[in-house]
Amino acid sequence: MIHLFDGHCDVLYQMWRKKNYSLFFQKTKELHCSFERLQHGGVKVQTMAIFVPPETPKEIRHFAALEMLDIFHHEILPKNPHIELITDLSVLEKTKRTPDDQKLYVLLAIEGAEPLQGSLTYLRTFYRLGVRSVGFTWNYRNEAGDGVRERHPAGLSNFGFELIEEMNRLHMAIDVSHLAEPGFWDCIGHSRLPVMASHCNAKELCNHPRNLTKDQLKAIFQTKGIVGITFVPYFLSSQKEVTITNVLHHLEYMLALGGEDLVGFGSDFDGIDETVVGLEHSGNIINLRNECLKRYSEEVVNKIFFKNWRNYYHRLWAESRN
Ligand SMILES: [Zn+2]
Repeated sequence: MIHLFDGHCDVLYQMWRKKNYSLFFQKTKELHCSFERLQHGGVKVQTMAIFVPPETPKEIRHFAALEMLDIFHHEILPKNPHIELITDLSVLEKTKRTPDDQKLYVLLAIEGAEPLQGSLTYLRTFYRLGVRSVGFTWNYRNEAGDGVRERHPAGLSNFGFELIEEMNRLHMAIDVSHLAEPGFWDCIGHSRLPVMASHCNAKELCNHPRNLTKDQLKAIFQTKGIVGITFVPYFLSSQKEVTITNVLHHLEYMLALGGEDLVGFGSDFDGIDETVVGLEHSGNIINLRNECLKRYSEEVVNKIFFKNWRNYYHRLWAESRN
């Protein structure tokens, strides 16, 4: 069995964009992460992000996110008894106890604080709808802070700091992917719970603004957070043809920085147009596993594929909540 815990994909956004809300269960090549492909690829836990694209008018960003959540709660969750939403430790633990069941477990995330529209009421409402992780920005400035594509990025806004405190109180995962560096360090400095990057690679190996420097990676590891290595070809290498070997370079690098218990994968499937050769969709995860097993023990591979992400959420949620 393969068993992947994927830290990031955009399948809900893709269905929303295509206005085809039943696409998930169809036999289709239009989704990287269709149910069929996830099952075939051995994906046990899939984090599904809600991404509201920047062209969406400001006043309907919250509604757009609700529509994507509604796709999950109305069109996916009730339509198949083998799908279960992870909202707390008891469901998370199930992924450990019954590793060979047919289930697909889902975590819900928000990519970019745009749909919060500067409101903690909206944050708490999303929490009640099952969202357990929020990335503060996409690539640009919003109410919480500045993204990696801002030319003169500042750190977090006052709302961004309030967001950290409220997310800490709720034990939600703070995702620093897409956040410009000053805001990244604000998260590291202000959060009392481990911080994660759901889909980022190493800048030293591929100089892209979406990747993280050695110091940033080390800082995440120091908080006992996690980094999800992502399959976005241009975050892996500037080569024309990007292969699984390039994914392994980033893995090797992060392991050398002490990431054996703190590195996983965050595919970004359904959020990308180009793909890695051999990793074109979730159904091909076996190719990655086979390449990993050529270099690392099964124990280490199982950590990177699954246990590290699960343990991250365990660390985040295990402290008593009040
Ligand atoms: Zn992204």
